[in-house]
Amino acid sequence: MSSETDARSAVHPWIEAAPAPVERRLYAVTPRLAEVLRVVTLTPRMVRVTLGGDFSELLGCAPTDHVKIFFPPEGEELPVMPQVGPNGLIPPPPGTPRSFRDYTVRRVDRAHGEIDVDMVLHAGGLGSAWAAAAAPGMKVGVLGPRGSEIVDSSLDWLVLAGDETALPAIGRWLAELPAGVSVRAVIEVADAGEQQSLRSSADVDVRWLHRDGIPAGDSTLLADALAGFELEFPTGRGFVWVAGEATSLKPIRRMLRNHPALDAACVDVDGYWRRGVVNHDHHGADE
Ligand SMILES: Cc1cc2nc3c(=O)[nH]c(=O)nc-3n(C[C@H](O)[C@H](O)[C@H](O)COP(=O)(O)OP(=O)(O)OC[C@H]3O[C@@H](n4cnc5c(N)ncnc54)[C@H](O)[C@@H]3O)c2cc1C
Repeated sequence: MSSETDARSAVHPWIEAAPAPVERRLYAVTPRLAEVLRVVTLTPRMVRVTLGGDFSELLGCAPTDHVKIFFPPEGEELPVMPQVGPNGLIPPPPGTPRSFRDYTVRRVDRAHGEIDVDMVLHAGGLGSAWAAAAAPGMKVGVLGPRGSEIVDSSLDWLVLAGDETALPAIGRWLAELPAGVSVRAVIEVADAGEQQSLRSSADVDVRWLHRDGIPAGDSTLLADALAGFELEFPTGRGFVWVAGEATSLKPIRRMLRNHPALDAACVDVDGYWRRGVVNHDHHGADE
């Protein structure tokens, strides 16, 4: 055992004994053509789009499950659907525009063949522009989920944090958690008008952070809030999940990885988008 591990175990003995808190499952991806059934404006900058399609056998079971949504090329009604061969996805011909973006499955109803995706409206962006104009009857392609990261539901506590792009996952997570888990959620949004009411059976403490004029991805609100209570992580087995603008998450990732009470396996920090980058790849080398 390294002296670093020694020091951590001395503070929180469960770190050594605990089984890995996350199980990762990978699935074969299936492309599906889907149609917009309903569009609801949740807040001035967030719309919920309900997609109907052959979702009866949609794989996935975790609140952070996400799909790639393929949007139709400009002026066309149908998306260029991804092709899957015996060895997985067939790369599109060179020069094909990357007309897809990642979105969280906020809700799935397999019996009725529906999923909900909550989409942020922001300046610029194919996905955002499509969401702003979304109307029943419009078609998109849906690919995935490619896998699930299932966080042990018997943990004693969770810290869930992020900006509005993380809000769909946090909302689904809270909705699916059982009673008895203690959750601290820290959510950064543009202003008070972007707050949503989030239901949960868990013991939840939600703290909203308002940028109030600071551009998205430019604030240190999340980092400051997490630093503010980093020394107070509860005892017992826990997990910290954070997602949002990739650059602003860097100091948070560093802080959590070096935290004496947190094992690396109990921390997941995911850059969901990056300022100035179109279709940021959250599996990229920098993540
Ligand atoms: C696993 C995963 C799950 C995600 N789930 C969701 C989700 O449920 N809902 C959701 O809305 N987003 C979600 N995102 C984030 C979403 O994929 C990105 O924000 C994506 O860039 C949006 O595409 P776009 O076409 O609107 O903008 P792009 O064309 O990709 O980018 C255009 C410009 O807009 C900027 N930009 C991108 N996103 C934002 C933003 N949110 N606010 C301000 N500026 C932005 C970019 O930096 C770039 O300068 C998720 C991302 C990942 C990796």
